[in-house]
Amino acid sequence: NTFAEIDLGEALNQNIRRCKYVKPTPVQRHAIPISLAGRDLMACAQTGSGKTAAFCFPIISGIMKDQFAQRRPRGRVAFPLALILSPTRELSMQIHEEARKFAYQTGVKVVVAYGGAPISQQLRELERGVDILVATPGRLVDLLERARVSLELIKYLALDEADRMLDMGFEPQIRKIVEQMDMPPPGVRQTMLFSATFPKEIQRLASDFLSTYIFLAV
Ligand code: AMP
Repeated sequence: NTFAEIDLGEALNQNIRRCKYVKPTPVQRHAIPISLAGRDLMACAQTGSGKTAAFCFPIISGIMKDQFAQRRPRGRVAFPLALILSPTRELSMQIHEEARKFAYQTGVKVVVAYGGAPISQQLRELERGVDILVATPGRLVDLLERARVSLELIKYLALDEADRMLDMGFEPQIRKIVEQMDMPPPGVRQTMLFSATFPKEIQRLASDFLSTYIFLAV
């Protein structure tokens, strides 16, 4: 019933305390154990429900405990282990800011890439190494086409505000992105789909992108 009871790894638990999060919100209470158990998840959750932490905590915790994560080479092509897709520059910036607080001194590196800003600085950041990439779909496709990001090693995929991404016309970009991740077979990749609404188009994305998943409505 409190974060102290969930073993997310010492550094992350400490950051959660520092952020003054004591009790999980309903979406966190249900989504975090499902993700820690390695299951795919489709969650109906609104803004303000605490969904950012719900997908960030299991990702950061998983990467912290992953021996392989520390041994990847850095270089011109970035190989993130986790991808968080979000519809807008503003939301991406917010997620990045929160994720960085949660990842403080965990050794997990978070980088953000969004459109409407010069790509050069984002490329420099990516070259310094990235574990979790927070991105908008258009900018990520650009980075993939420039061969500056590879999604071959993605183990965690979170789609935030999926309904809004579809409303904005990002479905082709999202499909192109997810197609590049099927190097580890779908069973190896863990996917979390968050959406405020659950229309047919979202159900279709869920059945295309997720393995047998748990549906959560809070
Ligand atoms: P989100 O829905 O992820 O945008 O979160 C909404 C707001 O609630 C953000 O300002 C978070 O920092 C805050 N928040 C999320 N989870 C918790 C929690 N368990 N305890 C206290 N504040 C939280």
